[in-house]
Amino acid sequence: MPSVPGARSASTRPRPDSPALIDTFGRVATDLRVSLTDKCNLRCNYCMPAEGLDWMPDTAVLSDDELVRLMDIAVRLLGVTDIRLTGGEPLLRPGLEDLVARITALEPRPRLSMTTNGIGFAKRARAFAEAGLDRINVSLDSVDRETFELITRRDRLRHVLDALAAAREAGLEPVKINAVLLREVNEHQATDLLRFALEHGYHLRFIEQMPLDAQHGWDRSTMITAGEIFDLLSTEFTLTPSPAERGGAPAERWLVDGGPGEVGIIPSVTRPFCSACERTRLTADGAVRSCLFSSDETDLRMLLRGGASDEDIAGTWRATMWGKLAGHEINEAGFAQPLRPMSSIGG
Ligand code: SAM
Ligand code: SF4
Repeated sequence: MPSVPGARSASTRPRPDSPALIDTFGRVATDLRVSLTDKCNLRCNYCMPAEGLDWMPDTAVLSDDELVRLMDIAVRLLGVTDIRLTGGEPLLRPGLEDLVARITALEPRPRLSMTTNGIGFAKRARAFAEAGLDRINVSLDSVDRETFELITRRDRLRHVLDALAAAREAGLEPVKINAVLLREVNEHQATDLLRFALEHGYHLRFIEQMPLDAQHGWDRSTMITAGEIFDLLSTEFTLTPSPAERGGAPAERWLVDGGPGEVGIIPSVTRPFCSACERTRLTADGAVRSCLFSSDETDLRMLLRGGASDEDIAGTWRATMWGKLAGHEINEAGFAQPLRPMSSIGG
């Protein structure tokens, strides 16, 4: 992977004639994150306020036909090989099993995964597996009922635990867990989470909290860093570097007590992995973004609804990705949080 040069902005040189989603820093985006809705049934306090947000109007949200058309363009014309469904809470999208079946029928078939809070997933797991879903990541920040409720503002831990078990039973493996640690809230439970994951054979990854919450409450001075997460886990476990290839994956992987169990730590803020980023993003209202932290985005919905051809849409998507910046700039002076929160971009 070429290293990102000193310049932060994309160069102004003309884009070479390539069908792929290349950028001026030599990266190629093959991993598409699609937000299916900005709505959610939890209220994780690092993500959105207790009262929720002004959700997108239904007319702004792409229909299943529009989404499938864009994903078809992505896999057929732009070289996308992996699609992840997210949100908001993707399970709130009506008829999601049918949408999954339509995505996995695309040619060439993308690998399809979903990031979800797991509420209501247990009874749908088998249908999702039959529709072709390959894997899921379930977000779970605590296995203690009170702490779970404190963070998500809902008493739903049981639903999430059931979702994990049902995913494994339906063969959606490896079942991954995403966890965020918050100071003086669940930091002392980091080892409990890892023990739980190891006992059940789930793959746990801790993510550093990022400045993407709707209420702009992120504070670098109180954020739990990847280094601290490593130290917290090391109070009970011995972590050694995993020999597994990291590739474009953001997690630094560690063998636990010599393996085979592992844990991942995603140092999004303190050791950004932007130079290896393979992602392109589509919001529920049809905007393409080259990065979670982009300050600009490109409206594809207008093109879709205005009768543009597949090639026109592909060309606009390519041009957006060509302008991708070197990195997210959280650690630069003058960093400004993007206007959209994580729940609206798709995490
Ligand atoms: N609702 C689904 C869920 O929670 O898995 C999908 C959307 S959620 C935005 C995707 C992931 O982003 C979750 O794992 C969540 O913990 C994480 N997340 C949300 N806000 C975050 C933040 N400010 N910093 C780091 N991760 C965050
Ligand atoms: Fe909802 Fe996911 Fe945000 Fe939690 S992190 S409020 S589950 S969108």
